Amino acid sequence: MIEEILEYNRKFVQDENYKAYVTSKYPDKKLAILSCMDTRLTELLPAAMGLKNGDVKIIKNAGGVISNPFGSVVRSLLIAIFELGVETILVVGHTDCGVQHMDSKAMIGHMKERGISQESLDMMGYCGIDFERWLRGFDDVDTSVRETVDLLRNHPLIPDDIQVGGFVIDTVTGELMPVSEK
Ligand SMILES: [Zn+2]
Repeated sequence: MIEEILEYNRKFVQDENYKAYVTSKYPDKKLAILSCMDTRLTELLPAAMGLKNGDVKIIKNAGGVISNPFGSVVRSLLIAIFELGVETILVVGHTDCGVQHMDSKAMIGHMKERGISQESLDMMGYCGIDFERWLRGFDDVDTSVRETVDLLRNHPLIPDDIQVGGFVIDTVTGELMPVSEK
């Protein structure tokens, strides 16, 4: 797989196909999006929202969640706001998300099958990590997006003039559905 990509890449650069993508690091729409790493959203999400290269900072992880209010997602958003001029943050969950109803016990079982030792798993506990909670998915995507929006709106390091909105995108049609406020 890696060889295949490198081969494609050499031709991409040689043919100057990059010229269609040249832009700056500053997001033209002053927008940041937190969303899920789901493969169906790779092209659908920007296409359905009318976004192109250079418009937006997109931060993705499994579920589009913030598992730590001072972790890497919020750090990225702070850089986007204070250094790159972002004024609007959208949290975009999606239908049929793999993280919904994800069972941490089942995943720990899969880890053991792949040779991760019980000793390693126990060590997580000694390091102060609630392993099962860390791996657990969410029950309902609307609630997850609403809670994430709420966390960002009340985050002590995010200025009050930053607009934060929440949506669920249809994984097939790309329709954006606003998440109702609490
Ligand atoms: Zn997902």
